[in-house]
Amino acid sequence: MQFEPVIGLEVHVQLLTESKIFCGCSARFGAPPNSNVCPVCLGLPGALPVLNRRAVEFAVLAAQALNCQVRETSIFARKNYFYPDLPKGYQISQFDKPVAEHGFVDIPSGEGTRRIGITRLHMEEDAGKSLHDGFPNSATSTAIDLNRSGVPLIEIVSEPDMRSPEEAYDFLTRLKEIILYTGVSDCNMEEGSLRCDANISVRPAGQQKLGTKTEIKNVNSFRFIREALKYEIGRQIEVLEEGGAVHQETRLYNPGEGKTFSMRSKEQAHDYRYFPEPDLLPLVVDEHWQAAIRRTLPELPEARRKRMIGDYGITEYDAQVLTASRTLADQFEEAARAAKNPKRVANLVQSELMGRLKARGLEIEQSPISMKGVAMSADLAETNTISSKMLKDLYEKAFASGEDFAQVYEREKPQQITDTAAIEKIIDEVIAANPRQAEQYRAGKTTVIGFFVGQVMKATQGQASPGVVNELLKKKLE
Ligand SMILES: [Zn+2]
Repeated sequence: MQFEPVIGLEVHVQLLTESKIFCGCSARFGAPPNSNVCPVCLGLPGALPVLNRRAVEFAVLAAQALNCQVRETSIFARKNYFYPDLPKGYQISQFDKPVAEHGFVDIPSGEGTRRIGITRLHMEEDAGKSLHDGFPNSATSTAIDLNRSGVPLIEIVSEPDMRSPEEAYDFLTRLKEIILYTGVSDCNMEEGSLRCDANISVRPAGQQKLGTKTEIKNVNSFRFIREALKYEIGRQIEVLEEGGAVHQETRLYNPGEGKTFSMRSKEQAHDYRYFPEPDLLPLVVDEHWQAAIRRTLPELPEARRKRMIGDYGITEYDAQVLTASRTLADQFEEAARAAKNPKRVANLVQSELMGRLKARGLEIEQSPISMKGVAMSADLAETNTISSKMLKDLYEKAFASGEDFAQVYEREKPQQITDTAAIEKIIDEVIAANPRQAEQYRAGKTTVIGFFVGQVMKATQGQASPGVVNELLKKKLE
């Protein structure tokens, strides 16, 4: 029998506000434990929450980027449960009236795309953090750090639309890319700014009814989520093939063993008994406010790729690589606009720059060669002032010394022929050898000059000054 996996994802994203969602404490990561706290986020009696306006704007911006419908009036709710890192005994979240619903993310699929639905996007506060080890008494005690308590989150819940671990991986990759472009989160998984839980079930191919699902929690990389799902699909199929039943439960993934393990069964699951938060008014984001937030929405990666393909004549693959982050795309576009041939800039970024960065484990922001440098090298290659071999040498030298391309080029550039008599002689030969192009130039097609410059540079092995060549060529051709 063939089985079909059904996967849904729940993603928590920390919003990059300066302060927490319901108080003025700093929301920054890395402060000494329990230093960013006040009566509100410590849950002391009588303390009242006040909603952070910027957190609302960020949540709505993310919702708009994910094609969600923003609800004009949404309601905060108390989600009641006891846990040591939750001093109030409840978490302020949203329940039946979330801030946004009904969105989607398109993921690549074969030649086209597949649409993965987003059920809802709601705002909530984070809980504190339990520290189970690292202290002298860790064997018998758990420490609590409440800096994270009250940090603003959005939870994005997908429809159970994914049919393979690869699709789940692609969804997360696209989702993260979109969120990063909006700038509402840094999506740093190591620091917990992006966390993901996966719901997974299998059913006989062709069956409409969903199978019993399990939830995989607290996986800290997209790659591990893909692996955990692969394992869990295999496990569930095996259980069913042996005539058993899958139990609804929460499971944890152990990357070392490549397996998931049962953490708690449905019987132990929480009944949160949600009710509307009496200390907060309904949140109203009216049309005007929504429109004002929409105006701050940047061009998103998918649209940007399409435009860049048109603007710069680059391939879809080029566009994919060059829009991997907003910074890279911005820098590339700046360089491409300044360069003579944008396609050459795209090629150089991929063939000469990215490979060298990857080999050294550097991010694009840490590149010794700036995008300005790439543009300069592209122009030098375009005019045949330097050969491709010379360009490679210059890139190597720049990476070895940590200097930008311009500096290395100034020091290493080939000795130029400035003897005009020698250049004139070569120009005469080139014009004589290409009478058709010379005729075209004289007939008014002056762009042909680029062809002649190229020929002369080739004949001089790139050692003539392009400026001198240009000047002399114009004189000779007219
Ligand atoms: Zn506080």
